Amino acid sequence: MHEVVLLLESDPHRGLSDREAEERLARFGPNSLPPAKGAGYLRRVLRQFHHPLIYVLLAASAITAGLGEYVDSAVILAVVLVNALVGFIQESKAEGALDALRTMVHTSARVIRDGHERTVASEELVPGDLVLIEAGDKVPADVRLIRLAELRIDESALTGESVPVVKDAVVLPDAIPVADRHNMSYSGTLVTTGSGAGIVIATGAETELGEIHRLVGAAETLATPLTKKLAAFSKALTIVILGLAAATFAVGVLRGQDATETFTAAIALAVGAIPEGLPAAVTITLAIGVSRMARRRAVIRRLPAVETLGSTTVICSDKTGTLTENQMTVRTVWTPNGHYEVTGSGYDITGEVHDADGRPASLEADPALCWSLVAGVGCNDATLTQRDDGWSIIGDPTEAALLVVAAKAGIGVDDVSDRLRRVATIPFDSDRQYMATLHQDTTTGPNAASRLAAPQVVLVKGAVERILELCCDQMNTDGDGRPLDRAAVLQAADELAGQGLRVLATAMWAVDGAEELDPGQFDEDGLRPALTFTGLQAMLDPPRAAAAAAVAACHGAGIAVKMVTGDHAATAAAIAAQVGVLSERERVPGSVLTGADLAALPAEELPDAVDRASVFARVSPEQKLRLVESLQARGQVVAMTGDGVNDAPALRQAGIGVAMGRTGTEVAKDAADMVLTDDDFATVEAAVEEGRGVFDNLTKFITWTLPTNIAEGLVILVAIVAGAALPILPTQILWINMTTAVALGLMLAFEPKEAGIMTRPPRDPDEPLLTGRLMTQILLVSALLVAGSWWLFEWEQARGAGLAEARTAAVNLFVVVEAFYLFSCRSFTQSAWRIGLFSNRWVILGVTTQAVGQLALTYLPAMNSVFHTAPIGWDAWLRIFAIAVAASVVVAVDKRLRRGRPPTSGRPPARA
Ligand code: ADP
Ligand code: MG
Repeated sequence: MHEVVLLLESDPHRGLSDREAEERLARFGPNSLPPAKGAGYLRRVLRQFHHPLIYVLLAASAITAGLGEYVDSAVILAVVLVNALVGFIQESKAEGALDALRTMVHTSARVIRDGHERTVASEELVPGDLVLIEAGDKVPADVRLIRLAELRIDESALTGESVPVVKDAVVLPDAIPVADRHNMSYSGTLVTTGSGAGIVIATGAETELGEIHRLVGAAETLATPLTKKLAAFSKALTIVILGLAAATFAVGVLRGQDATETFTAAIALAVGAIPEGLPAAVTITLAIGVSRMARRRAVIRRLPAVETLGSTTVICSDKTGTLTENQMTVRTVWTPNGHYEVTGSGYDITGEVHDADGRPASLEADPALCWSLVAGVGCNDATLTQRDDGWSIIGDPTEAALLVVAAKAGIGVDDVSDRLRRVATIPFDSDRQYMATLHQDTTTGPNAASRLAAPQVVLVKGAVERILELCCDQMNTDGDGRPLDRAAVLQAADELAGQGLRVLATAMWAVDGAEELDPGQFDEDGLRPALTFTGLQAMLDPPRAAAAAAVAACHGAGIAVKMVTGDHAATAAAIAAQVGVLSERERVPGSVLTGADLAALPAEELPDAVDRASVFARVSPEQKLRLVESLQARGQVVAMTGDGVNDAPALRQAGIGVAMGRTGTEVAKDAADMVLTDDDFATVEAAVEEGRGVFDNLTKFITWTLPTNIAEGLVILVAIVAGAALPILPTQILWINMTTAVALGLMLAFEPKEAGIMTRPPRDPDEPLLTGRLMTQILLVSALLVAGSWWLFEWEQARGAGLAEARTAAVNLFVVVEAFYLFSCRSFTQSAWRIGLFSNRWVILGVTTQAVGQLALTYLPAMNSVFHTAPIGWDAWLRIFAIAVAASVVVAVDKRLRRGRPPTSGRPPARA
């Protein structure tokens, strides 16, 4: 026996006992990686100081201290510290939101314990467990393989080698490199074909993956193309502004101005003009968007997807399970000898199979019916179980439906498995489009299987056209073969499919002396087709309740929806019409293409044809990749759903690869950018909507924050050029920027989506964040701020106020105008009144907090001495509010004049 089995005191067939597994779980701990430590607290705090602006501030603090201005120096230092603290907290929160996502997509493992197969959470695996793996799985722990069939594993996660490795259960010498240990499979690697069983030798942090994890600390960073672009922009801007500040300082000193004052002015310029809050705000808005999507059951696996979602122009969706419920019920069975209707609903086995005259169907009168139902049961991996609340299934719904209809006709699972012991299997595969099983006849007496002239039988079920290729005859009422009437079968199948039913064909083959089953036996080129056709089973799979509305919403948003399925063209077209993917007027040639059509098209005509069609039927996973590429060649941003192992390349190629959380394989999830925890098409639509919302909120924040920076920079520049006193001091600028960014600007990240968000075309991914129209608005507000603050500063001084008092008025003006402007920025097109002043409670909370802060700044003696402010009278407040109201009116009029035009110029709407 394998040494490993003895060493780990396991059993190669029965696995561990439940008791033993429980004890080992307590001893070895759960099979999960310790949370990525990332950088330690200290490192993360220190990282907050690693910004050019902070260096400027620290230098400024040191120099002001050197000049004897201890209070100013301390204020600057305090601001730096507070800023770092806020940044640290925000960053931790955003990372926490991402971490939470990781636990939302569960992985399970199949083990044998006490001789029974069961599904457990991967975390519960222990060393010694006997685990089963098959194509599509992620290997749950480090496993020594003891049995396997055609097992190939993609180990790129560990070795970087992308070609799947062929596995073998042989004994290998000690001490050979990981990549050459062919009798091992490692945690985190992906099974691409075949199946296997093995003994767990290491779990959690003890695995090879755990080792790598420990070395690199796999903390995902909050970075997307946009955040990187913004970070680069901020950095470049900082350098320019520092240069400008240095130049003004030099010019001022050369002109003979007081060095201290000029230095202060230069600092003020730098501090005011650099948009330091920008990168953090962007990160937070993204993180909030990601949590919102998760709440709507779309889990983002790669952050850039949040951005791409907002510019999606085409969604390619699976039919079965995504646009439909994947709740299969066989409605009709058709055989060469009769037509049968099935009553009952769902997976409940109460119901009957009637013949054309409404009488219960007779299995004796139509052996083809009997053999079709037997094929449905024998060639099947699903199970039905009765629970208190009804019948539930394990496995493929398509297969479960076949068990239900057989049970309604009186053929139970045990009836078949007792008499026909399964000895070999060719599993279903979307490329092969059929499943076949080899059975040994174990009966001796007379029974349904006694008609067999041979000791063994092959049962087959699959797509109609595919099964017909393998058949040489069809079963008549005596149970014998008669020439195959291909045309009649195809016509019946077309009719059933036209009603939106999913049609499977069944067939059988009596053989002698077969021990193995391989596709070549009845399928290979040159071999005569050997199967006997027995019947068609047509099942209903109702469209999902929310699908039609979601498809309509996509069309309204200028997003094309295309159905991509392995199912029959007529079935696909019927369902597509029900959910609105195919509208009546669109039922023209070319709107439904099959895999064969695609294969026949010359490469240069492909993109056009693909763009025009809305339904792709009988498509192989490999063709999905070509679909994505063709659409991308037309400049489309494509979201593509998928669940199988073979879908992974298409998911990777798509702008947004979407995997099914429930029915999808681990391989598909691994390749995807987003996972739907409910498998529902409507969730893709919801994610697109949230993606647009995230982009909107980012744009709103930037539109709100930039005028302050521009105006502050300009005010200081004007003062220096004019050789006049500064209307606002560096510490005051710090106050404005730091407090308003947190109390006011950040609240925009919580802004609900705008009403018309799904009625405008997708964002062009190449379009700049700020369109010409938003730039004009930003410049307008900047100009109003500069003019207003200078005018007020001069006015206050003219009526005899001191410098401190005039500056306090100017500072308050900045903040009040920003607060008013915040309401305007909540919507691109609507006025603040229309969307409701109080409809975002966070904004109200922020404004109130800011107001308290301003009163403290103005009237608290301590604040007065720290920030060089002074109390101002009620008449000054009147002037401040008058200017703020006037500015708001100008902004509102400007907005009104442009109303109706979308904030983005958009792209020509994609064909819906
Ligand atoms: P989709 O998931 O897009 O509906 P599939 O690739 O799963 O398409 O199925 C394609 C065709 O293969 C179906 O129309 C059906 O005839 C057949 N089929 C589906 N599931 C099975 C199965 N478990 N066994 C045999 N044939 C199947
Ligand atoms: Mg399927």
